[in-house]
Amino acid sequence: MEVVDDLDFPRRQPTKSDQLTVAQVLALGPLQQVGVIEARVLQATANRVVQVRGAPVELKVFEICDATGLTVWDRLILSVQEGRSYRFTTLTTRKEGDRTVLTTTPSTLVRTAAEVGQPATLRPAHTSSEEVVRRPVAGVKIVAKPRCPRCHVGQDNLAPKCSTHRCERCAILQRTNGYIISYSGVVIVVGRDGVERSLSLTNSAVYGYVRDHFLASCAHDGAALKESVMALSEAEVTVSGEGLVVRFGGSIQAEPLATAPVGESTQPEASDSRASEAESDTEGLDELFRAV
Ligand SMILES: [Zn+2]
Repeated sequence: MEVVDDLDFPRRQPTKSDQLTVAQVLALGPLQQVGVIEARVLQATANRVVQVRGAPVELKVFEICDATGLTVWDRLILSVQEGRSYRFTTLTTRKEGDRTVLTTTPSTLVRTAAEVGQPATLRPAHTSSEEVVRRPVAGVKIVAKPRCPRCHVGQDNLAPKCSTHRCERCAILQRTNGYIISYSGVVIVVGRDGVERSLSLTNSAVYGYVRDHFLASCAHDGAALKESVMALSEAEVTVSGEGLVVRFGGSIQAEPLATAPVGESTQPEASDSRASEAESDTEGLDELFRAV
């Protein structure tokens, strides 16, 4: 059998199930696998979105006890909160200058853990200051880019209505709802000075919005998602120092959302297919949120 192109992201079981301490990790070289480690996530120091194999992928860097960094990728970002302790399975190490830092992999699992002690002194880290903007939304664009769960290549021609899709890179036929969705986009708000601001949405901000507004059934329906954002009387947008939207929410107008967005949703004859569609979409989301 042909080996698929996943050399950068090998899927493998932890070869070393022994739990390591951070001190042991710091002694490791780069590209070493760390089977299990428990750590307290202290503070976020950076947010970025990078292009990986044709799709935008978000990363967030945290300081963890003691004095090392942890880069959390993609959907796992929603699983991690500052000030809490977690048990991470299957991380890898890399070098950042002269210090060893940790990074998640596609196989990483995150579980909450009993409190891990906090060091008496924190390594001075540059934390980007966040700005909270509360303004009406003037416009929104949300792009849902599917990625293959096996080779992680972004897909250009996936039809959400089809139950299966053949990966455009590794050619493996898979269930459509098994593909991983990465959101990107912009939200435009008008400042108090009347000047429009165009703010870049991150994947975690959009997923957090979907989760908090109980929109799981239309998460893959970009049009319904955008209509829901436009129906907000006021958006609350948290912007990182890097200019990325890291949290997105808002208050909904008195008018019920269900009547606002999609005309076809009121057609009774479509109710059966809609019900099954909504169910499969929700399952997909559960999968994405399983570590939350
Ligand atoms: Zn693939």
